[in-house]
Amino acid sequence: MSLHAVRPRILGFISEDVSAWLVAALVLLAGGVLTGLLAWATLDLFQHQLRQRFQLLASERYSRIEERFEDQEQRLDGLRRFFVNSESVSRSEFDGYAKPLLRRTQAYSWAPRVTRAERPILEQAVRDEGLSGFGFRELNDAGELVPAAERDLYVPVLYTQTQSHLPSPLGYDLLAQPLRRATIERADRLGSMAVSQPLHLVGIEPSYSRGVLLVAPVRRQQTPDAVTLGYVMAVVSMQQLLADGLPEESHDYLSVRILDLSTEDQHEVLYESSNPAAPSELSSTRLLRLADHDYEVDMLPSAVFLQANHSSVGSLVVLGGLLSLLLSALLYVLVSQRQRALKMVEQRTQELRQREQELRGTHGQLRGVLNAATQVAIIATDLRGVISTFNAGAELMLGYPANEVVGHMTLENLHLPRELETRSAELSARYGKSIPTCQAMLVEGGEEGGHEAREWTLVRQDGSHLAVNMLATPVLDDQGLWVGHLAICIDITERKRVYEALAARDVLLKKLSAHVPGGIYQFKMEFDGRFSVIYASDGIREIYELEPDVLLLNAEAIFSRIHALDSTRVRASIRDSADTLSPWREEYRVQLPLRGLRWVRGEATPEELPGGGVLWHGYISDISDLKRVEEELRALSVTDALTGIHNRRYFQERLTNEMARVERGGGELSVIMLDIDHFKRINDQHGHAVGDRVLQAVCERIGHRLRRTDVFCRLGGEEFMVLCPDINVQHAHILAVELWQGLRCSPFNEVGTVTASFGVASWRVGEGADALLLRADSGVYAAKQAGRDRVEAPVN
Ligand code: GH3
Ligand code: MG
Ligand code: MG
Repeated sequence: MSLHAVRPRILGFISEDVSAWLVAALVLLAGGVLTGLLAWATLDLFQHQLRQRFQLLASERYSRIEERFEDQEQRLDGLRRFFVNSESVSRSEFDGYAKPLLRRTQAYSWAPRVTRAERPILEQAVRDEGLSGFGFRELNDAGELVPAAERDLYVPVLYTQTQSHLPSPLGYDLLAQPLRRATIERADRLGSMAVSQPLHLVGIEPSYSRGVLLVAPVRRQQTPDAVTLGYVMAVVSMQQLLADGLPEESHDYLSVRILDLSTEDQHEVLYESSNPAAPSELSSTRLLRLADHDYEVDMLPSAVFLQANHSSVGSLVVLGGLLSLLLSALLYVLVSQRQRALKMVEQRTQELRQREQELRGTHGQLRGVLNAATQVAIIATDLRGVISTFNAGAELMLGYPANEVVGHMTLENLHLPRELETRSAELSARYGKSIPTCQAMLVEGGEEGGHEAREWTLVRQDGSHLAVNMLATPVLDDQGLWVGHLAICIDITERKRVYEALAARDVLLKKLSAHVPGGIYQFKMEFDGRFSVIYASDGIREIYELEPDVLLLNAEAIFSRIHALDSTRVRASIRDSADTLSPWREEYRVQLPLRGLRWVRGEATPEELPGGGVLWHGYISDISDLKRVEEELRALSVTDALTGIHNRRYFQERLTNEMARVERGGGELSVIMLDIDHFKRINDQHGHAVGDRVLQAVCERIGHRLRRTDVFCRLGGEEFMVLCPDINVQHAHILAVELWQGLRCSPFNEVGTVTASFGVASWRVGEGADALLLRADSGVYAAKQAGRDRVEAPVN
């Protein structure tokens, strides 16, 4: 199945090839755009709502202000009517009427029209009422009230009712001040209420002193030409009118400004909230009318309003941005993880495919190996024992074609039933439970539970028997479950035959070597000089008192038995034999734990091995007895038979050795020669046998007087020689004299005194043996000549 048939898509719409970064960036971008759109829509809605709210607030405030303006007009109009409808209004009546009206109005006043002539009468009348200081007054340049100048007409404040605690400006002539005068004239001209331009109010507390004067003419008839009796006035402080009863300015949502439009070129600000307007595009302007004036009322949102109605766009943008970022990060993680997982899946799939190919290859190889292994029968079975694999080797060995066996026969069918039964009984006894014959060949053969090859007899298709070595092992699947068995059989017919032939030869060799004194062996020297024993017959045990098995493991054990003085020589001769490939022959001593020192003789023929080593085939025998006989013969050959002392041959050998020693290492060497005097006579007088005994006795006597190192020899007849190593001529002469004395001083039993003539000589450097002996012989001759029985002094 192809994995590429369906293109995997992440989250159903993102292709797996798209970079996780790109996805994250796109999501972030989309999130940003959505957030922006949402923010824009929200902002728009917010501004719309803000505008609505502001307009609502503004129109409500306009209504309030308009209401207050109207209220002011109505109350002043009420006061005017009060005057119009009354014949006369006393001060107390005025106070009684005006006082309750003082709401958002600083003061109400009544100012009658007074002519020049009426002035003194009125001033007196008022003073008579108890206001003693009353008089018509006006403001001078310093802003102080001073008595009014003489004029034709006055409009003095007669009654006043005020909220202020300051003294009322009674008597203040309104015509004396241009703005007030203009207002009065306008009211007269209109015949109705008029409002002054913004002006400084007199007698009002400073915080409310800026305001307007609302003036209404009091006439009996409401015609334009009717006579004006006087004026009722309301002193209105804009601050009070607009601020009273409205939110505190610090909490006010609106910043209000009222402009007076009565002056043409510059519009005076009549009122302005102390809370500043916040920077905003929101604003509202409306014209409101008070009496005969239009006022422009501007409203702007205050900072408090904007604070209370702040936009949530910022939070929305932050939240949207965060959400986009989160979503982007989430998608990045998801996409990259998914991509990683997909990559891993693809990698694993490729690995699996590669494994599958390898497995297929291995399977093919295995089949090839199975069929190529024609010398080995490979038989696999299922758990029931039914054969599932029967290779070419098995076909060749057993004669069955694979198709007749696979799926039809069991492993048990190929075995010799008798053998299986025996094995089954044996296994049953060992494990204490019944082991069926079909499993007898499968149960572990090793004593320790391991799998071990075992010999079986199989039955060929033609009924003949085949001896095989079979290794049966369980076959396990990937999970370690037992799924069958595998039996590998090797035809061992030929091996058995060879083995038996070898065994027979071994027995023969054993028997032969048992009848041969000594041991037969094969000894090998590796190319690196190491020794090993390949074969050692039982006879070797006698030779070295070592077990043959020990020698096979450790050839060096032989050298531990060889006498220390011979060991080096033996090794050297072995190497020499190896170098020259010449037969090795050596006689040497062995020091044995039980039999002590023995002599052995080894002989071996070397053979060069292909790897560079040498193999010897040899024989070692004990020659201790032979050595003893040899030594005895040797002793005999150098011993004089009559006297038992050394003979001439020995003397010659020793003399040659000693001379060589002195020549090599220096030192002294002397000889003493003696000849029995007139021995012929002894023979003649006492017989030859007595002569022999005299010779023996003389030798015994002289031998007793010699050192151990002196060599005493019979040269022949009655002539003797003493070889004295390490003795110079003087000492040799002294010794000769001692010997001479010892001989002559006491007689022999049968013949009486026996004397001899002595000659002494010491070896000279470069002298030969013959010359030395001649000089000694000359000494003897000279002694004979001088009358015998003496020691001839040496000439050196
Ligand atoms: P001289 O003093 O001159 O040496 O006289 P001599 O008789 O000793 O000398 P001579 O050489 O003439 O004689 C040696 C004799 O020693 C001759 C021989 O019969 C005798 N003789 C040699 N060998 C033996 C022996 O083994 N046994 C006996 N009994 N006599 C021997
Ligand atoms: Mg003699
Ligand atoms: Mg002689």
